[in-house]
Amino acid sequence: MTLDKKTFKKELRQRLSENYAMEIEDASEQELFYTLGTLIKAQYAEAWGNTWRRYISKQQKQVYYFSIEFLPGRMLKSNLLNLGMLAMVREALAELNIDLDKIADVEKDMALGNGGLGRLASCFMDSIASCNLPGNGNGIRYDYGLFKQRFVDGYQVELPDEWLKGGNIWEIRRESKAVDVRVGGHVYLAEVSKGHFKPVYENARVLRAVPYDTGMVGYDNDVVNTLRLWSVEIPASEEDKYQSIHGRRELEDLTAVLYPDDSNEQGRLTRLTQEYFFVSAGIQSIIRHYKKQYKKPIAQLSEYVSIHINDTHPALCVPEMMRILMDEEDLSWEQAWDITVKIMSYTNHTIMAEALEKWSIDLMKRTVPRMYQIIEEIDRRYVETIKALHPYELVERTRIIREGQVHMAHLSIIGSHSTNGVAKLHSDLLKAVVLHDFYVIYPDRFNNKTNGVAQRRWSQIVNRPMSKVLDETIGKTWRKNPDDLKLLMNYQADDKVLTKLAEAKKANKQALADYVLSATGIAISSEAIFDVQIKRLHAYKRQLLNLLHIIKLYQDIKENPQIERQKRVFIFGAKAAPSYHYAKVIIKCINEAAHLINNDPAIHDQLKIVFLENYNVTLAEKIIPAADVSEQISLASKEASGTSNMKLMLNGAITLATLDGANVEIRDAVGDENIYIFGLTEQEVYQYYQNQDYSARQLYEENPIIHRVLNAFIDGTIPNIEYEGREIFDSLIQYNDEYFLLRDFDSYVEAQQQIDHAYADQSFWQKMSLINIANAGRFSSDETVRRYAEDIWKVDPIRLPVDEEG
Ligand SMILES: *Cc1c(COP(=O)(O)O)cnc(C)c1O
Repeated sequence: MTLDKKTFKKELRQRLSENYAMEIEDASEQELFYTLGTLIKAQYAEAWGNTWRRYISKQQKQVYYFSIEFLPGRMLKSNLLNLGMLAMVREALAELNIDLDKIADVEKDMALGNGGLGRLASCFMDSIASCNLPGNGNGIRYDYGLFKQRFVDGYQVELPDEWLKGGNIWEIRRESKAVDVRVGGHVYLAEVSKGHFKPVYENARVLRAVPYDTGMVGYDNDVVNTLRLWSVEIPASEEDKYQSIHGRRELEDLTAVLYPDDSNEQGRLTRLTQEYFFVSAGIQSIIRHYKKQYKKPIAQLSEYVSIHINDTHPALCVPEMMRILMDEEDLSWEQAWDITVKIMSYTNHTIMAEALEKWSIDLMKRTVPRMYQIIEEIDRRYVETIKALHPYELVERTRIIREGQVHMAHLSIIGSHSTNGVAKLHSDLLKAVVLHDFYVIYPDRFNNKTNGVAQRRWSQIVNRPMSKVLDETIGKTWRKNPDDLKLLMNYQADDKVLTKLAEAKKANKQALADYVLSATGIAISSEAIFDVQIKRLHAYKRQLLNLLHIIKLYQDIKENPQIERQKRVFIFGAKAAPSYHYAKVIIKCINEAAHLINNDPAIHDQLKIVFLENYNVTLAEKIIPAADVSEQISLASKEASGTSNMKLMLNGAITLATLDGANVEIRDAVGDENIYIFGLTEQEVYQYYQNQDYSARQLYEENPIIHRVLNAFIDGTIPNIEYEGREIFDSLIQYNDEYFLLRDFDSYVEAQQQIDHAYADQSFWQKMSLINIANAGRFSSDETVRRYAEDIWKVDPIRLPVDEEG
């Protein structure tokens, strides 16, 4: 029942008239956006209800993806595409003199996440629905998303992101599905009958968790799953306890803000309460739904429910499931434990020790006392079961409660049947190093699931010029079947196709150049190499290495202005966590270097630096189609997977990378000749750790180029960084360059020179670019979620009505 153009226009007119008493010709973009949005929502409403009913009538096992972050970005075009309406609506609006892109620009970028982790969760939601899989998201509806970034005098300034201002057309508030969550106070066990204990809660606070559901529309398949986000409210029964505005505020603040830190957890009580809040609400609602709709005994829960713990923030799923099964459903510990482990699975996203989540015993006791009791018992029994099998030290190292802290990764591994890393290298490192102790104890629990991206969004929606060339060259099947991008390999020597792809890239670069000019006033030429590094600002991601190379180029040009070089535009997008001082120092230095270089008449347009403010999904969508070079230059072993690397290759950018995360698999996919690899390998990095024989100072003293580049930070070459420049310098020399930038500098510079040469030969470059596009299919998150579904969740695709008829 997809609409045709005529009916669509009629519907739009009618809704606009109903909503705003207005004619299309007089409506603002805002009014058109809301009208179009409600029209789209009405389009999938029936399929949404049907999907839900089908799961129940087939008693289908469902997976619930628990994540403290989701980063969907804008949803208008993605919903239109998946409903098969995008082209039709674009045309119909054009006939009414309306530009769909302008309407789409009205939508607020939904940024309830920091970066890769949250974006992965959203790519998964799209793919789960698109692959006919019964899966739902569970998270928090933050009133404020990730802060809005502005630069003032080159410094990052954070402003609140009021994404809900003006309403959110996609969500449905479901008050009837609200649940209560208890936090704080004291809990003791009282004997209710002989040998049978129940917890008694004293002085606990009751929070009302109200769900807001958003339809996750599958691609061309009539499946609409649910993303359920929870918001806190004061329960009616507790109204009189919250008479002061202050008290209400304090409670309502619980779901006000997303923690703007993607690795280091600040020991914040609010954060732990947030974690328990969405975990408890989610599990209660799953069990209520199961009992009411599936009408099966609780002992069979694991046959119908799978819960995924996305990083450790939802690790309290383990004790919360135990609590409900024992305290409320009266199962024994053994029964409850058996079910819990079968239901739970866990993804690890980091090997950075400081990013492994821990909570002090004291905080946990105060915040979630019943959780702490259960965790203590899990820990005690864990030791009991394995102590006969393994050495004492190994047992001690893997305990959940150690040295006054609760280790959430340990809880997640012990309380689940599957632990996976997010790229081959990362999963291997988990087994060999980071989680080696657990691998010894539970070898069968470990597996790899390489990340992927929702390719429909990251190609069809964001890159229409390229998509058109693909359609004309290999037909349209790639739109549903990313593997069919392979067909492009037949055209790697076809000049016509190569030229068309190059023209598409050029058009995208011009569009980005126009945007850059309007957003920053900086003029860039689409003739230049667009060299892109977009990701959170983090020392291990080494944006600073990129800057060191830029400064080297600057110094080269100043010294030898007459040498012919490829023009380059270095494009950055990156937010620093507000409390991450060093990352902010790097932002300041890049901005000041940009100011210097962009305004130096001796440079002309040979070199430009553009640091775009407020990197988010919407900005990524503008930058990625225009990229020539994809910078993936983290220190080997530090980036778990990376996903911007996948988005960029899909759009024909050439990857410049260390052998880290999924870069290794990108190299395997495209071959050594179609990627630029440099730098230390992960073994070499570990070798340095073992031998403790790295000396950054020696490199500084012996390598004249490094010497000159680093001096630019402290000798006034780059103005306005008196303190910041010194800090950078000291981090590299005094503190011995934790991420081996100086060690990798020469090989990075050399790889960059090779890129210059390659780009000079346009047909050679275009062929590499084509090969990258052609081999991007394997990084589709469709494939990734199918692997999760088969290997970990054990959920089957839904049989669709069409299948049943056929
Ligand atoms: C894809 C994406 C990321 C992840 O980037 P990495 O380079 O893999 O760290 C972060 N933020 C946004 C907005 C993204 O779209």
